[in-house]
Order: sequence, then structure tokens, then C-alpha cells
Amino acid sequence: MNDRPTGRPDRRTFAIISHPDAGKTTLTEKLLMTGGAIHLAGEVKARGQTRRARSDWMKIEQQRGISVTSSVMTFEYDGLTFNLLDTPGHEDFSEDTYRTLTAVDSAVMVIDAAKGIEAQTRKLFEVCRLRSVPIITFVNKVDREGRDTFSLLDEIADQLALDVTPMIWPIGMGGVFEGLYDLAENRLLPAEGGAIAMSGLDDPRLDELLSADGVAKLREEAELAQAGYAEFDLAAYRHGDLTPVYFGSALRDFGIPELINALRDLAPSPRLQPAAPEAVSPDDPAVSGFIFKVQANMNPQHRDRVAFMRLCSGRFKRGMKLNQSGTGKAIAVHSPILFFAQNREVADEAWPGDIIGIPNHGTLRVGDSLTEVAGAVSFTGLPNFAPEILRRVALADPTKTKQLRKALDDLSEEGVIQVFHPAIGSQMVVGVVGQLQLEVLISRLQHEYKVDAKLDVSPWDTARWLTADNDADLKDFAGNHRNAMASDRDGQPVFMAKDAWELNYVMQRHPGLRFSATKERA
Ligand code: GDP
Repeated sequence: MNDRPTGRPDRRTFAIISHPDAGKTTLTEKLLMTGGAIHLAGEVKARGQTRRARSDWMKIEQQRGISVTSSVMTFEYDGLTFNLLDTPGHEDFSEDTYRTLTAVDSAVMVIDAAKGIEAQTRKLFEVCRLRSVPIITFVNKVDREGRDTFSLLDEIADQLALDVTPMIWPIGMGGVFEGLYDLAENRLLPAEGGAIAMSGLDDPRLDELLSADGVAKLREEAELAQAGYAEFDLAAYRHGDLTPVYFGSALRDFGIPELINALRDLAPSPRLQPAAPEAVSPDDPAVSGFIFKVQANMNPQHRDRVAFMRLCSGRFKRGMKLNQSGTGKAIAVHSPILFFAQNREVADEAWPGDIIGIPNHGTLRVGDSLTEVAGAVSFTGLPNFAPEILRRVALADPTKTKQLRKALDDLSEEGVIQVFHPAIGSQMVVGVVGQLQLEVLISRLQHEYKVDAKLDVSPWDTARWLTADNDADLKDFAGNHRNAMASDRDGQPVFMAKDAWELNYVMQRHPGLRFSATKERA
């Protein structure tokens, strides 16, 4: 279904989005097992623990039992390579989570059958929508008492404003679960396992294999569903307007092959990536990619960082020189890392859709474009997001001001936090999207930079980047709102608001100014 010139191996690069506890970890394990990457259930979390124990600053992960960092898992299935980018599943999430979604071509949205759409599902979905990322839905935990199938489908359609197409229909849930019916291929997938081809929903063998209640309900519901929901339309799915819905259980292994087949058959190959002067095709022969994440201290032996690059075009080979956008610096990539499920291996080559880890000493920043031909393209759509929490940084020991500046500078380049310099006073303000980022900040300041800092409550709740067609308007506004003005790392003016109400009020009174909730990297 995916046309591409011969020679370039295909990829499915995707993420799983879900609310905590919906079953993302369990599903990840099952996908990796099906793909033959790992062989024991429970290894994903177990592996995580040994990795965590090795890294000092990740103490915070252990304390809270969560994964702060996104990782990349690669597995093979049916001769095709899948790259699964993990998004931190905790309720407090950071810009990292958002940016990870800029590096995928599609997403699987996992929903708990008893709970439906939850807060974080919706938030992550909105980020996918910004980039029209196609979404396959997996309704998990049908082995338990769930909500009515129609009400789940209608909720997805209504709350996310998407067309839904049920591809699989559950035959009962919880205690009366008898299996799944594959509506697209007319197959019965009995709870005990296997798949039995049917001529259709009226196949008499269904009466033999299912209970009288089960089969009556299946026929009635499936008929209603086929009449009531949109037919599957590949183009609409690929545009992010329609989601095919699969049902199953990650824990009990129901419906996993169907989901993985959907990723193989429906999910897109590496897509065009938005860039200036024009979008980059995966078939462009010159190598290009962008950094969507920087992680410090993966190896506590030395203070290297690893920058995660999504390869967008060309055939990457080890030792290749790539040019960094902005600085124009040429960087020789001698020891790139490909992330396999079992261990990290040194990559000799990689293809569009692959993720490469590039060890460096802090040269590479989130949002950087790397190109074989210097200055060829610059990828767009990797914005900073307006912070939802703003804190003033107070130093316990004033002689450490220089270290603090350096640390905040580093951490903002890594994308952990954003730093703002208020127009009045010398106290710096840090902005984050989730509470967790603040804890990471304090922990890393202490352990890595040996700076003892406190975060004080600030009068502000949120911030917006300011631009105007008319410079005088901007100057005027800044003069009248000096106590709420700041500049960001690049010197761009920022307005800090006490709350959403104040922001709205100010915005309405200044129609000549643009208050942006995102900022593209220059
Ligand atoms: P995550 O927070 O989204 O990564 O969720 P986990 O994969 O850790 O699952 C949360 C809880 O739900 C765990 O106790 C799992 O064992 C359980 N769980 C996951 N999938 C299923 C399922 O299909 N059926 C049932 N009954 N429980 C499940």
C-alpha cells in the first residue's frame, strides 16, 4: 500500500498515546514480543529499572516510579521495521512528550474500555491533530467489564471530532466476552485463540461457536454499526480525519495481531516533513533530519548527551558529516546509536523514519536541523510551547549565580525548561508545561550542577510570545505592561499573564498584537 522506490527499506515510525493505566506498557511489551524483539512479558518495565538504577539523575524516576525520558524501540515484523517512540505516560508531562510526536508518522491511541477518552488522551490527541498525525485506536481491556461499544465509539467521534470506523467488534466484554469479530475480513477470533474465516455475519457456524445470546447481540450490533459509522477510507485516515478502531486486550493477548497488521497495512511510511524552503521527501537522496530530543547522562561514566535525530531523507552512513542549521558547524557522526529493543547497537546505516542517537557534548539542540548539504533545509513545526507553570528561581548561595545561569542555559537548550528574563528585576523565571519538569530541574541542578536553588511561586500562570506588524505598537504595549514583560532566550518579547482571564482581557484590548502560544525555533 505504500509506494516507494526500490532500494529504500520501509519503516513504520509511531508512538502510543494514552492516559496513564490504559495499558500502554503492556501493549508495548506485546508488540515487541509479536515482533520477536523480546521474549518475556514484563521485560519492558524490568529493563527500565536496571537502566534507571544506573543513572544518577534519574533518581527522580525511581522515587515516583515513572519514566521521565522517552525511549526508542525498534522491532521487526513480517520483514518490516517498526520504530516505536515511547512518550512518557505520567500525567505530568513535558515538552519532550509533545516533541516526540513531531518525530512520528502515526500514532496508536490506547483507550481503556471502562473509561473511554481521558484527560491526557485528549491533550496528546490535540498535538497529533496539529500535525495531522493519523491515528489508529485500540480499545483495551475488553476482558473486563467495559462500557457499551456504541457509547465508546460515539465518545471518540464526538470528543475528538473524528470519523470512526470499527474494524473489530467485541463479542461481549468482561465475564461474557466470547471473542472478537473481524468486520473487515469476516473472521471470528475466538477468546481461546486462532481465527476462523466466515462467509459473513449470517454464517451459521457462528451459531455453533458462540452462545445464542452472544451471536444474536453480535449480529444486531454489527449491523447497526456498519450502517451507522463511516466506511473505512484510507485517505481520510492518513489525513487524520478518520480513525479505524480495534478492540482487544493487551494483557490477555486479544486482538494484538490485528492491531499490528493495521500498522503494517494502513499506517503511513515515512511522510513528507515540513521544512523551509520546502517540505522534505523521504526519497530525497541527500541526508537530512532534525533533533527532537536531547537526553543528558544516559551514560553516567561521562557527561555526554545524546541527541535524538529523526532521519527524514537520504541513506545515513556511519562517519558521515552533517551540517548543523544555525551555526553551520559540520559534525562528524562517528558513533551513532540505533535503539533496538534489547540493547543499543552501533548503527552502520539508517533510513528515513529511523531514529539515530548522536552523542555530543552539548552542541546539538532540540529543533536543530542536520543536513548533508550545508544549509539545504530547515525543518519547521518543532515549536516551543507556552509554559503553563512559571516559577522564580531563588539561589541559596548568591556566589553561584554564574553556575545557575550556565545550568539554566544548558537545560533550556536541552528543552527541559524555558528561561525568561523579566524586564524588571534580576531574578530569572523558568517556565514549564508540566510539574514534573520542575522536579527534574531541581534534581539536576543539585546533582549535576551542584547548585542549590529554590523555585518560588510567581505572580504569573502562563506566557505568550508577542509579535506585531507595527513595532511602535509592541513598544507601547511593553512600556505599559513592564511588570509583566520578559524576554526569552533569544531575546524575543514575552507577556506573562496571571491567568487565562487576564490573558483574554489583554488580548482583546490589543487586537494589533499577536499573542502566540507556540514559538518556532529561529
Ligand atoms: P500504562 O500506565 O498505560 O503503561 O498501563 P500498564 O500497561 O502499566 O497497565 C496498567 C494496568 O492495567 C496494569 O495493572 C495492567 O496489568 C492492566 N492491564 C493492561 N492491559 C490490560 C488488559 O487488557 N486487561 C486487563 N484486565 N488489565 C490490563
